[in-house]
Amino acid sequence: MECRYCKGVCIKNGLQSNGKQRYKCNHCHRSQQLCYSYQAYYVNTNHKIYKLVINSCGVSDMSRVLGISRNTISKRILELSQRISPPKLDETGQAYEVDELKVKCHQVENCWVTYGINKKIKQVVSFVIGGRSREYLGVVTETIMGWIETS
Ligand SMILES: [Zn+2]
Repeated sequence: MECRYCKGVCIKNGLQSNGKQRYKCNHCHRSQQLCYSYQAYYVNTNHKIYKLVINSCGVSDMSRVLGISRNTISKRILELSQRISPPKLDETGQAYEVDELKVKCHQVENCWVTYGINKKIKQVVSFVIGGRSREYLGVVTETIMGWIETS
């Protein structure tokens, strides 16, 4: 079997608790299966979720399309959002707009996304997820002000 991470050669490595054959890569030493019971364990699932998020697909729709539970989708989106690093901008003469957006979360009562957009390039340059307060707003405005001062 070919490794789904590095395309190396995998050898049999015992059985999973559900009885399925487990494989281990000779090169990167990662364990894997030929096929998984749950769609969420496939390597390209995060990329599919990412593509659906940037196309404004809702969690329920993603769940139906990918065959993954809404809870798993929500957890993955949160994991993916924590890997995002803000773009580096050092241009002068930029205009920024800061706004808040109330989002529907399964577990969180009052969930807000506070974000700053560079109006010239129409790109989100800073955002924070949490409540609606001066502190959250401050995180976004301070990030933008930091750029303005250094440029
Ligand atoms: Zn490998």
